[in-house]
Amino acid sequence: MSVRNLTILGATGTIGVNTLDVVARHPGRFKVVALSGSTQLEKLAAQCQQHQPGYAVVMDAAHAQRLQAMLASVAPRTEVLYGVAALEHIASLPEIDTVMAAIVGAAGLRPALAAAHAGKRILLANKETLVMAGSLFMRAVAAGGAELLPIDSEHNAIYQALPREFCGDLAACGVRRILLTASGGPFRTTPLAELAQVTPAQACAHPNWVMGRKISVDSASMMNKGLEVIEARWLFNAAPAQIEVVIHPQSVVHSMVDYLDGSVIAQLGNPDMRTPIAYALGFPARIESGVSALDLFGKNLSFEAPDYARFPCLKLAFGALASGGMLPAVLNAANESAVAAFLAGRAGYLAIPAAIEHALARARSGEPDCLDDLVDADTQARADADAYLADCVV
Ligand code: NAD
Ligand code: MG
Repeated sequence: MSVRNLTILGATGTIGVNTLDVVARHPGRFKVVALSGSTQLEKLAAQCQQHQPGYAVVMDAAHAQRLQAMLASVAPRTEVLYGVAALEHIASLPEIDTVMAAIVGAAGLRPALAAAHAGKRILLANKETLVMAGSLFMRAVAAGGAELLPIDSEHNAIYQALPREFCGDLAACGVRRILLTASGGPFRTTPLAELAQVTPAQACAHPNWVMGRKISVDSASMMNKGLEVIEARWLFNAAPAQIEVVIHPQSVVHSMVDYLDGSVIAQLGNPDMRTPIAYALGFPARIESGVSALDLFGKNLSFEAPDYARFPCLKLAFGALASGGMLPAVLNAANESAVAAFLAGRAGYLAIPAAIEHALARARSGEPDCLDDLVDADTQARADADAYLADCVV
């Protein structure tokens, strides 16, 4: 078994920490060559002390200077770099085989693209890469000869339930539909009239999963599932009509593939991201993840259809996917702005779908010619959402 050299982008986040947890269970199998973080310098320094990477990347010069000082005695051989170019650098170093792409939001796109062009095995947690630039990214993966393994638990489940020789043609593999499960989040049964008053703390209190704050709000609004529908479209070359969202409050079935012969193949497990992370890190071998065995006794599994009146963000996402072009990037950017405003107490929960709808209505349609077109659409959508939120009564 040869040692796999890893770059972990977003090492200080929930996915990054879980990745390092799995890695630490397998001394000799992986070598951490590069880590990145943004503002949590103490955490990043502790990770560098434990793993002694060749590189640590932060966002700007001031953070780099502080980290350098913190590492002087505990990881003196770690080179500290900063900025987007440095993220692209550690994603494409020749000695790297595997890149965990776990930066949150649009900031994850450029380093993920760099890994694709460089032909790496990419463990893709940053779903925003596919939402913003699905066509561009998938072309880069093909052109660079990269290998893409999904980390998002639903897509990882689907990947596991598809035939190993899946060639990108669902119909040819006998697949009727992809059934994407969703927990329904903390507001699944909240009376609709109370949604206007819900707080960030309530939105972040996910019943089953522990996640970063942005994705937790997305789970509450089901925008997370909307983004995942778009993610599935690109990962599995699925038409929107081939993707169905199923609410499954227990989060035991992580998603399913429905075949033409009537078979439905599901992947089950405890809700712990170390399972998909370990699957992708070890692929094709199955390796220990630290996740306890699933105890099925006493569990009642239930399934229900999503209600668009409760979850308008899901409908907006299906709409953006159907329109195509730059609208998924607009949806993503407006959502990031609106969620940030909600988390900062500058906007109410119901302002999130309203701001996204506003930005979508103002967006230019048409296919992007290049990354810059998408970046422009992203910037404009944030400005449109922010302008809407500034005028909106909380
Ligand atoms: P998080 O907020 O816990 O961590 C985000 C990481 O990104 C941190 O390391 C942070 O330092 C880094 N980061 C943030 N902004 C940055 C910027 N501008 N430039 C460079 N680095 C930056 O997020 P998370 O929950 O770990 O999620 C990471 C990604 O994985 C997201 O795209 C999310 O949608 C996806 N994901 C997460 C989960 C989960 O269970 N947490 C599940 C599925 C998919
Ligand atoms: Mg998911």
